[in-house]
Amino acid sequence: MKIVVTVKVVPEEIKIDKETGRVVRENVKSIFNPLDLLAAEEGRKLKEEFGGELIAVSMAPLKENELLSTLFKYGFDRVILLTDRAFAGSDTIATAFVLSSAIKKLIPDYDLILQGDYSLDGATGQLGGEMAALLDIPFVSQASSVKMDKSLQIERSREESIEGYTLKLPALVSVRRGINNGITVNLFSLMDGRKKSVEIYTNKELKLPEERIGKSGSKTEVINVIQVELPSSAELIKDNGAKHLMDFLEKAGVI
Ligand SMILES: Cc1cc2nc3c(=O)[nH]c(=O)nc-3n(C[C@H](O)[C@H](O)[C@H](O)COP(=O)(O)OP(=O)(O)OC[C@H]3O[C@@H](n4cnc5c(N)ncnc54)[C@H](O)[C@@H]3O)c2cc1C
Repeated sequence: MKIVVTVKVVPEEIKIDKETGRVVRENVKSIFNPLDLLAAEEGRKLKEEFGGELIAVSMAPLKENELLSTLFKYGFDRVILLTDRAFAGSDTIATAFVLSSAIKKLIPDYDLILQGDYSLDGATGQLGGEMAALLDIPFVSQASSVKMDKSLQIERSREESIEGYTLKLPALVSVRRGINNGITVNLFSLMDGRKKSVEIYTNKELKLPEERIGKSGSKTEVINVIQVELPSSAELIKDNGAKHLMDFLEKAGVI
């Protein structure tokens, strides 16, 4: 089974540049999008049960090569970095185009794509639907369980019910928070991973049309970002919380 996990590199702390309205990425520590590591754990479990390959694909600046190389210690067999100045400024549809075209070209016999429901920074949650549409494969979001039988069995826990889906492969599934406790380092993979390196592809190899990628391939543009200032005065209540709350609500005329 060939399982692809899309892994986004995100800033550990989200700060917006007031001038440009963009997320500040300079001098901020990069981390893996936490939900993608949950998706990776689902992929690792499926690989353990059925064999095959676990492959990470990320579109990120070249400098993230070092962070991405740490994915091997979680049991990834291949880590693919898509990087090119031509990809810069991509909105969600242009990002989805780069990722899905690269998967089609580099892993044509993939069975399953796993990803987080949303990223920590952009957090649009649009990538799954867009990639599935571009690849013409079924898609289920907010998965709370991923199992493989004769076909792929997905569960989505709702507040008062559980929805079950049966999908034909290849398919794309995005996972929700709480699906598992995260992926852990495997000692064998840690040793084995030292011999492996990240595969880097630019648009020279991918040959994607310029009008579909980067700024020219983007159909949306962020015009303005307004940062909401949170009130700085907060009262820390240590004891008698219920009484304080009642007094506060009474004073405010709510009760
Ligand atoms: C209108 C608009 C304009 C933008 N302009 C710019 C810009 O000029 N410059 C810029 O740097 N960014 C820009 N962005 C942000 C960039 O487009 C997003 O990072 C990207 O589209 C992914 O969107 P998301 O993070 O909301 O994905 P979501 O749909 O929230 O993410 C879902 C999943 O998709 C996967 N995924 C998402 N992005 C990647 C990735 N790069 N590699 C691997 N997997 C991934 C992950 O598995 C993630 O869990 C823009 C976004 C928007 C909405």
